[in-house]
Amino acid sequence: MVVVERPATQDIVDEQWQRVRSRLRIEFGEAAYRSWLSTLDLRSVDDATVLIEVPTRFLKDWVVGHYLDRIRSLWIAERSEIRRVDVVVRSSAIPNAAPVAEREPEPVPASAVASAEIETDREISAPLDARFTFENFVVGKPNELAHAAARRVAEAAVDGHVGAPFNPLFLYGGVGLGKTHLMNAIAWHIRRHAPARRVIYLSAEKFMYQFVKALRFKDTVAFKELFRSVDVLMIDDVQFISGKDSTQEEFFHTFNALVDQNRQIVISADKSPSDLEGIEERMKSRLGWGLVADIHPTTYELRLGILQSKAEQRDAEIPPKVLEFLAHKITSNVRELEGALTRITAHAQLIGRSITLESAQDVLHDLIRANDRRVTIDEIQKRVAEHFNIRTSDMHSARRARAVARPRQVAMFLCKQLTPRSLPEIGRKFGGRDHTTVMHAVKKVEQLMVEDRSLAEDVEMLRRMLET
Ligand code: ADP
Ligand code: MG
Repeated sequence: MVVVERPATQDIVDEQWQRVRSRLRIEFGEAAYRSWLSTLDLRSVDDATVLIEVPTRFLKDWVVGHYLDRIRSLWIAERSEIRRVDVVVRSSAIPNAAPVAEREPEPVPASAVASAEIETDREISAPLDARFTFENFVVGKPNELAHAAARRVAEAAVDGHVGAPFNPLFLYGGVGLGKTHLMNAIAWHIRRHAPARRVIYLSAEKFMYQFVKALRFKDTVAFKELFRSVDVLMIDDVQFISGKDSTQEEFFHTFNALVDQNRQIVISADKSPSDLEGIEERMKSRLGWGLVADIHPTTYELRLGILQSKAEQRDAEIPPKVLEFLAHKITSNVRELEGALTRITAHAQLIGRSITLESAQDVLHDLIRANDRRVTIDEIQKRVAEHFNIRTSDMHSARRARAVARPRQVAMFLCKQLTPRSLPEIGRKFGGRDHTTVMHAVKKVEQLMVEDRSLAEDVEMLRRMLET
């Protein structure tokens, strides 16, 4: 049934492909999209057939095995006449313009099989980041448990006699809070102090990739042997293993085999074992058997500590006030904090001027996205208390010691400046103080700002921070 149709104009086809891709991205998530789906190229849409190219045979198998049905339905939604979607391996020998109908995949060359078989744990292991050591890890309340546990694991692995202290060590926490850093640190520590130990560190995605590759080359025995003979197996971002049944199955067996031999396993994820989605119940419960250590979001103190340490490492001359400002404003995660630091130092070097609060704020204004919402009295009290290291409750308390009275006055001053509240309203929010007390505080701070440079800077910084 060859109906010669008016060929769809390229623009329309491109748009449709664009939509298919963005749906895939939404449905399968950013990580899967980047690993597997971003490599897809549309070769042609021809009557009832869509032809998609991928760079390698492996990708072809993976995409066909995991995503083809969905890709086909998405195409049918765009063009009801579509009946099939073919995925072919791109070959440089074929000119781009000529559509290729049915291309049989070439046979696997013998050399490829051989090289897949001789991969060792060093090659399988993902490269370690040289900066991710224990020495470079700043410890604070939010990460102290995870850090202590990671150290114990690393030391026990070096020692070799004591076995795994907790199996598995399960680290979890949000993005950019140091999970990968800690796992790398474990690996570095062992490499340095006991180089003969076999350590594999890899992402869950890479683990899947290795496994599927082993399946392809009918090499699962070697795969099992490899993974089951390591001393320490670390798998990062295990949430990405969810839903891939055969991989999970294999992972589960590998896991059990290693635990039985008292080999150490370290796992990271963005959620606790019980909250992981798309992972079998037995696996979830197994993952929670050892030590589950969560890394909490950073606190102001930890952020400041990290900034100081990173500024020192980079030999960057950054005024303490700027570091404090960053620690206040960039609260999402450490990766962003580092990004901010990099940006302001690069900027300062580029224009050959030293870093100031103004320049930092300027360079980072997109990061420090202006809050639409009006700043509230509560927020001012909280930030000011944080800044001067007193309790927020001291804003309401009757204590009159200078150490709390001065910050309280600063907070009142800022409330007057930054909120539309009246003096009596402000007074009430500060433990029911009289409006004359607030007025006095405002005058006092104004006067102090003229006399005391350092206080003036504090106030100025707090104002910027609360305003932006
Ligand atoms: P995750 O794996 O949890 O998403 P990473 O381990 O990749 O996060 O950390 C992101 C960045 O932040 C890395 O550059 C890492 O070195 C840094 N980082 C995170 N926590 C700390 C810390 N406590 N001390 C020093 N650097 C840290
Ligand atoms: Mg990570």
